[in-house]
Amino acid sequence: MRASPARPVLLQAALWWRGLPATALALIGACILAAIAPDQNYYLNVVMQAVTYAIGVAGLVVVLGYCGQISLTQAGFFGMGAYVLAILTVHQGVPFFLAALAAMAICGLFGLLLGFASLRLGGHYLAMVTISFQVILTLVLTNWIGLTGGPDGVSGIPRPALLAGTHLYLGFCLVMLVLTVFYTWRLKTGRLGRAMQAVRDNELAAGTCGINIFRTKVISFGISAVLGGLGGALFAGAFSYVSPDQFTFDESIVMLTMALLGGVQSPFGAVLGTFTLIILPEWLRFLKQAYLAVYGAAVILIMIFMPEGVWGWASVRFGRMPGTPGEGAVAPLPLFAVQQSEDAAPVLQVTDLAMHFGGVKALDGVSFTVRRGAAHALIGPNGSGKTTFLNVISGLYRATSGSVRLGNATLDGLAAHERTRLGMTRTYQNIRVFRGMSVLENVMIGAERPGNDARTAPEVMARALAALDFVGLRAEAMQPVGALPYGHQRYVEIARALAGSPDLLLLDEPAAGLNSTEKQELSQLLCRLKGHGLTILVIEHDMKLIEAVADHITVLNFGKCIADDTPRAVLSHPDVIAAYLGEPQAA
Ligand code: ADP
Ligand code: MG
Repeated sequence: MRASPARPVLLQAALWWRGLPATALALIGACILAAIAPDQNYYLNVVMQAVTYAIGVAGLVVVLGYCGQISLTQAGFFGMGAYVLAILTVHQGVPFFLAALAAMAICGLFGLLLGFASLRLGGHYLAMVTISFQVILTLVLTNWIGLTGGPDGVSGIPRPALLAGTHLYLGFCLVMLVLTVFYTWRLKTGRLGRAMQAVRDNELAAGTCGINIFRTKVISFGISAVLGGLGGALFAGAFSYVSPDQFTFDESIVMLTMALLGGVQSPFGAVLGTFTLIILPEWLRFLKQAYLAVYGAAVILIMIFMPEGVWGWASVRFGRMPGTPGEGAVAPLPLFAVQQSEDAAPVLQVTDLAMHFGGVKALDGVSFTVRRGAAHALIGPNGSGKTTFLNVISGLYRATSGSVRLGNATLDGLAAHERTRLGMTRTYQNIRVFRGMSVLENVMIGAERPGNDARTAPEVMARALAALDFVGLRAEAMQPVGALPYGHQRYVEIARALAGSPDLLLLDEPAAGLNSTEKQELSQLLCRLKGHGLTILVIEHDMKLIEAVADHITVLNFGKCIADDTPRAVLSHPDVIAAYLGEPQAA
C-alpha cells in the first residue's frame, strides 16, 4: 500500500535539501556584497532601501501571487512595522531585535484581522477594504501625535549595538532578504503554498479538495503582513527616522508595481522588480527632466510585453522543465484499502433532499442510497437537477431541506472541505483544474486531502504519481496543466480525485467533451476502478458508458427521483422511457 520504505526516505532527504545549497551560497554572497559595498552614503542608502522594500514586496508575492487576494496595503504593514520598531526602541528602550519581533507579531495580527475581511469579500471589494485600511493607518500615523509623533515622525532610531556600522547592518538586511526569499520560495512548493495557489486558481475546486479556503486566505494575509512588518522594521533601523509620508497609499501602489513588474508568482521576481524600480530612477537621473518620462515608459513597456513580470517571462523562456520526480516504479494506488464487504453497507444515504432556487425546485425530495462497491449512475434529462444534486452533496450549495449521510457521519451543515475530509472527492462537469500549476501539483493537492493516509511530502508525491500512473498521465506530470488537451485535463481531475483515496468518488459527466476513443478509454478506466471495489457515483449522458459501467441507476426528472433500480429494470421502466429516452428503447 505504500512505496517501499527506502524510496520515501531518499525522497524526503531530496525534498528537505531543496534550495539549501543555493541559499547557503546566496548567504555567503550577501555577506561579501555587504563587505565590498563602496563606502558612499548615497549608494548604501539606495541599496538599503531596495533590500528592505524587497522583503516587504515578498509579502505581496504570498498574498497576491500565491493566494490571488488583492492587497493594496503592503506599505501600510511596512509602515506599521517601522513605527512599532521606532516607538519601542526610542520611547520604551526595548532592544532592537525584540522590537523587530514585536513589529512582526503586531503586523501579523493586523494581517490576520484584514484576512477576515476576505471571508465574504473578494476582488474589487476586498481591494477597497485594503485601501481603507491603508488610508486609516496613514491618518493614525499623522494624527495620533502622542504615540507616533504626528507629521514629524520619530527620529533617532537605534540599530543593534552589534550591527551599528552601515556595512554590518546592510549585511544583516541582505541575510534577512535571502532568508525571506528562501522561505517564500519553499512556501510555494509546500502544502500550504499549494493550497494557496489552489484557492487562487479555483476556489470551488479547492474546497472540494479538502482545503479550508478561509483559513488559507487568512494565513496568506498574515504571512504577507509579517514580511511587510519585517521589511519596515529593518527600514526604520536603516534610516533611523520614520514619518507618515513614507508609507502612504502611493507607496503601496509602488510596491504592487514592483511585484507585478518583477513577477508576482515568485520571490525572485519580487527582488528583481524592487531593485529595478528603486535603482532604475537613480541610473536615469543623468537624463534630467526627461527621466520620469523614460522611467514611466520603461515600466509600461515591461508590463505590456511581459504580463507575467520579468521573472515570469524569463522562467518561461529560459527555465527548463524538471524531470519527473521518483523515476521508475511507484507503488500502485491503494484503492484496495477500501474493503469490499459482503453486505454492501450504505456509503451515501440521501433522505428527502430538496434544493430550491427561488421558485425553481432543482431538487424536490430526492432519496436514495449508494452502497459500498457500487458503480451507481445518476441519469436524467438536461436540467433535471443532477449537477445540483452533486453540488449539494459536496457542500457547495446548502440544501433547502433533507439530510445526507456519508458512512456513519451526517454531512448536514458541513462545509465542502469538511465533507471532503470525511472521504468524498469529486470531478466537475466543466473541468476545474488549477491552471497555474503543473499536472503533478494538481494531483498532489488531491493526495493532500485531510483524512487521507498519505501525510508526509514523499507519501503525497508517491500517491500523486500512482494516481497519474493509473490514468496514464505519469509522463505528463511536470507539464503545466493548461498545456494538456481537454480530454487529458479530465483525466487530471479524475487522478486528483483518486489520489485522495476516497470512500466515495463523485463524477459529473466525465465523458462530456471526449471523442469516441477517449470515451472508450474512460469506460475502461471506470470499469478498472469498479473492479478495485471503489464506490462510484457517476452522472452521465452517454448511455453506452452507463450500460458498460453501472450496476445501479437512479433517474432524476424535474428534481424528483423517478426510478432507482438495476439497469435492466430502470431502462425498461415506462416513466423513464417517457421522461428520459423519449421513446421506447430500441433493443
Ligand atoms: P443537470 O445537471 O441535471 O443538467 P442542473 O442541476 O444543472 O441540471 O440544473 C437543475 C435546475 O436547477 C435547472 O433548472 C437550473 O436552471 C437550476 N439551477 C441550477 N443551479 C442554479 C443556480 N445556482 N441558481 C439558480 N438556478 C439553478
Ligand atoms: Mg449537469
